[in-house]
Amino acid sequence: MKSKTYSYGKQNIDHDDIERVVEVLKSDWLTQGPKVSEFEKALSEKFGAQYAAACSNGTAGLHLIALGLGWSRGDVIITTPITFLASANCAIYVGANVDFADIDERYYTIDPEKLEEKIKYYSAKNINVKAVVAVDYAGHPCDWEALKSLKKKYGFQLVNDFCHAPGAEYKNDYHYALNYADAVNMSFHPVKHFTTGEGGAVLSNDREFIDRVKTFRTHGATKDPRILEKIDGPWYYEMHDVGFNYRITDFQCALGISQLKKLDSFITERRKIAEYYDKFFENDERFVIPRVDENSKHAYHLYPLQIKFDELGISKKEFFDKMKEKNIFLQVHYIPVHLQPFYRKKFGFKEGDFPIAEIFYKREVSIPIYPGLNEEDLEYITESIVGALDSMK
Ligand SMILES: *Cc1c(COP(=O)(O)O)cnc(C)c1O
Repeated sequence: MKSKTYSYGKQNIDHDDIERVVEVLKSDWLTQGPKVSEFEKALSEKFGAQYAAACSNGTAGLHLIALGLGWSRGDVIITTPITFLASANCAIYVGANVDFADIDERYYTIDPEKLEEKIKYYSAKNINVKAVVAVDYAGHPCDWEALKSLKKKYGFQLVNDFCHAPGAEYKNDYHYALNYADAVNMSFHPVKHFTTGEGGAVLSNDREFIDRVKTFRTHGATKDPRILEKIDGPWYYEMHDVGFNYRITDFQCALGISQLKKLDSFITERRKIAEYYDKFFENDERFVIPRVDENSKHAYHLYPLQIKFDELGISKKEFFDKMKEKNIFLQVHYIPVHLQPFYRKKFGFKEGDFPIAEIFYKREVSIPIYPGLNEEDLEYITESIVGALDSMK
């Protein structure tokens, strides 16, 4: 039994990161200072965006996108059931209605065919879908080509909830996110690829949209002379819409700048870990490994392993307990959002509505993947998984 513990994901902070944060703590600006725009510039360059707005977390980023894109009461927003709650909740924040389209069973991202069926269902009722929030689940890009042609055909706004996928590539393009989506959302929570503690960002190529996002980030207050009704003096600002305080601090941005430099080496490590797992599990009938589309390079925020619990007659809960005894703390990504009591009650969703997502949920376990896991760790983890299953037959 190891004294070391393992979780599905974890941050990697080095001496350099700490130094950069301490420098800012000793400076004049803890917040609203120069590190925020420096971080925004670094993000823009790294991900091929013309503009970026850093904010307090990824959920705030999604809310800012909803506000900036002008979603309002009664609008229909479609997302995937296999995502974090926030991808759907952002629509609720602005009074919009949420619906889902099931996932593609190969890559676990939103299925463009199911999405089109759903859009047609609304068209038949004379309702235009306002926006689609697609999620590059686990770090595997969606079928963006198909999503973009649907966008052209039906005229909805396309959002990439990109929290899992910095470092991924689509059609050999590292900068793919904004080549397809109108707005891109990021999170820098410690389980994500690089961290600021809590933190997020909105990326876009639309200047006016980003200006709106930045205004909503700070209470809705603006000093932009193009918007002001009058100018009483240099202190003067106006509020035209109600906003929030969704700012990020300068010391968080200093951490973000330092962490971002290591993203590519982190991705290399994650891919090596994934390769180890792929080789270990691929020829064992009890498992389904995450497939990678030939158009894509996976960023492996998660390693979603499917275990055929039902077919094996093994309880997933018992398996989790067995792994816990080995100090391996697994997670499940995700409980299908439509099955959450809130969404069932509000919109009448029920079991069976999105069957691919529901089967995936029954089988999926997220096993440890983060920089710093060595060969010995991976041996221990894989042997523990197989050992636990063998012991439960
Ligand atoms: C992490 C995450 C979020 C929310 O980000 P926070 O920074 O935790 O608020 C939203 N969507 C997805 C897909 C995520 O993984």
